[in-house]
Amino acid sequence: MPELRQNIITRDWVVIARERVRRPDEFATQTRELIAHPRYVADCPFCAGNEEQTERELYALRDTVGWRVRVVPNKYPALIPTGDRVRKIEGIYRSLTAVGTHEVVVEHPRHDMTIALMQVSEVADVLQVYRQRYGHIRQDPRIEAIIIFKNHGEGAGTSLQHPHAQIAATPIVPNQFRMRMEEAIRYFDDTGECVFCSTLREELDDAERIVFETKHFVAFVPYAALSPFHTWIFPRRHASSFDEISNQEIDDLALNLRTVLAKLFKGLNNPDFNYSIRSIPTRDARSEYFHWYVTIIPRVSKTAGFELGSGMYINTIVPEESARFLRDIVVP
Ligand SMILES: [Zn+2]
Ligand SMILES: [Zn+2]
Repeated sequence: MPELRQNIITRDWVVIARERVRRPDEFATQTRELIAHPRYVADCPFCAGNEEQTERELYALRDTVGWRVRVVPNKYPALIPTGDRVRKIEGIYRSLTAVGTHEVVVEHPRHDMTIALMQVSEVADVLQVYRQRYGHIRQDPRIEAIIIFKNHGEGAGTSLQHPHAQIAATPIVPNQFRMRMEEAIRYFDDTGECVFCSTLREELDDAERIVFETKHFVAFVPYAALSPFHTWIFPRRHASSFDEISNQEIDDLALNLRTVLAKLFKGLNNPDFNYSIRSIPTRDARSEYFHWYVTIIPRVSKTAGFELGSGMYINTIVPEESARFLRDIVVP
């Protein structure tokens, strides 16, 4: 029997389609060489040595050899950092100038790298740069929300192979942020607890959907995962936005994130994936009810008419099975 499950954090419903039995490893990418890229590509704007191919540098982490992580403006920005936030209302319609920021974090000088293959200390460098930019961008009074995200592979929305992430900051609170906050506030009003802290406690008690635990972070497949291998990484310590992360926690998240991505890389043969780091809107920092987290979505199944027409998802692997598969993959 298929089953419907609801995610109590997002309120999304998902169909867990148990009847379409597929083994988890059938989702592995069939056609891809694991490391098919060269270390350096002459026309890649992000490779070390090609710095003049990008616009001005916004920030960089350097050592005696050169930069380790570098931040540059997005060449095709969705939001631009100049101008005022001007709201316009015409009849029933409203619009706003697209002020904000849209940056690219070049995560490694080498073209053939990906987080799954990096040293933990290199991943920590990347996370430190995310935190630096988050802290910097939030000082802009025009900004309401900051989204850190990665598109890996064409199925996840990028044709650029060089390891990179993006940071976008918007002059409004996106509707999805608002809906999640409202649900979190409702839960807090009803129970006096953070819904994320409650979920984490439940998942740790149950243990069936845990993928990987470190001192400060827990990776697990949500009870109502939207798609195969959909994974969340929660900080154990309650905090509402990513820039509250401590140095120790950065080192620990680097280990956790790299391990989860290495499990996906090995178990599913370097699948396309997206991840994002979700925080509370910048003005609402340090709330009792919202908890920042990382969400990872491997793009191993397609969404189609049912999802578009209902906002519901169909997941063809039972979340407990996704978790068991990932948990059992041994990575160095
Ligand atoms: Zn490159
Ligand atoms: Zn919490």
